[in-house]
Amino acid sequence: MSTLVTGIGELATNDESLGPGPLGLLTDAALVVDGGAVAWVGPASAAPPADRCEDVGGRAVLPGFVDSHTHLVFGGDRAAEFEARMSGQPYDGGGIAATVAATRDAGDDALRERLRGLVAELRAQGSTTVEIKSGYGLSVADEERTLRLAREVTTETTFLGAHVVPPEYAGRVDEYVALVTGPMLAACAPHARWVDVFCEPASPHAFDGDASRAVLEAGRAAGLDVRVHGNQLGPGPGVRLAVELGAASVDHCTHLTATDVDALAAGDTVATLLPGVEFSTRQPYPDARRLLDAGVTVALATDCNPGTCFSSSLPLCIALAVREMGMTPAEAVRAATAGAAAALRRTDIGHLAVGARADLAVLDAPSYRHLAYRPGVPLARALELPA
Ligand SMILES: [Zn+2]
Repeated sequence: MSTLVTGIGELATNDESLGPGPLGLLTDAALVVDGGAVAWVGPASAAPPADRCEDVGGRAVLPGFVDSHTHLVFGGDRAAEFEARMSGQPYDGGGIAATVAATRDAGDDALRERLRGLVAELRAQGSTTVEIKSGYGLSVADEERTLRLAREVTTETTFLGAHVVPPEYAGRVDEYVALVTGPMLAACAPHARWVDVFCEPASPHAFDGDASRAVLEAGRAAGLDVRVHGNQLGPGPGVRLAVELGAASVDHCTHLTATDVDALAAGDTVATLLPGVEFSTRQPYPDARRLLDAGVTVALATDCNPGTCFSSSLPLCIALAVREMGMTPAEAVRAATAGAAAALRRTDIGHLAVGARADLAVLDAPSYRHLAYRPGVPLARALELPA
């Protein structure tokens, strides 16, 4: 059944052939959805007929947000750790072990219920695509189970067995990397599209450049595409390794040298910024302006996880990126849609040209500008249309 979405006060297409500016804006627009894809887009006065009509009453419509970095399969919570951090204790990645213990203890049904609740929470805030990482199992069986559950809700699943070294391998990093690149990868690769690593020599719990390279190269040899957690807690080799290996994305990018920025500008690796983490850990924000001015493709994602950012809200990230990171409202919206689609190497989402997936977000507001202008107000939701 085709649907004519009309009454769109402002439509962000992210296609500069359809409208002006980086968001390809149209006013008084309409859009026809057929078979789950955009079949027509243009001025409302020229809209073709369709089987049914959905009038959004002058609201703004934009491509559904693409949350290209989350950790949604976990047990327990770390509210007490958050309170301690806000009382002055620093974050070094060590709290992940608490979530690993709670996740291993949780049954499949409990993990699935939490996961599905969080995906619904994302959709209710306008996100229509979600990437989900493993990384709180850290055993062959628990990593495999995490990815199997994640696959029930998304095709964008990421094997992150190299999240941290689990407590039972403390002091035996090489042995753990052998497990990750051997039996764990073999069990997980059938359920994953991506391989990832927490490359962070500044953390005593994460992985240095050599270990990270070993994990990523093994994942790639098993048919997975590469993404990297890098340069979150301090300068390090993560960004350069990501670019060298042709990673789709390197995520965090909080501490960058000029060499890192040059490498990103010369390659095609997206810099994914996760400002909810800096907000929730009270750390300095990444410098998005510097990356954009250098010509780097920037994405925004939530990093939704129980430790360093338990928020599923891309609108919050957009507001933070504008207020704290030097992005314009249009740049931030583009980063949370087209930029994040590029971070997943997807051409069917993040824009609304004919042929794109009909993943739409609608705002209870007349313009995309309100996402940053009205922080904390629940304006965005995924637009649900009949199939
Ligand atoms: Zn993460």
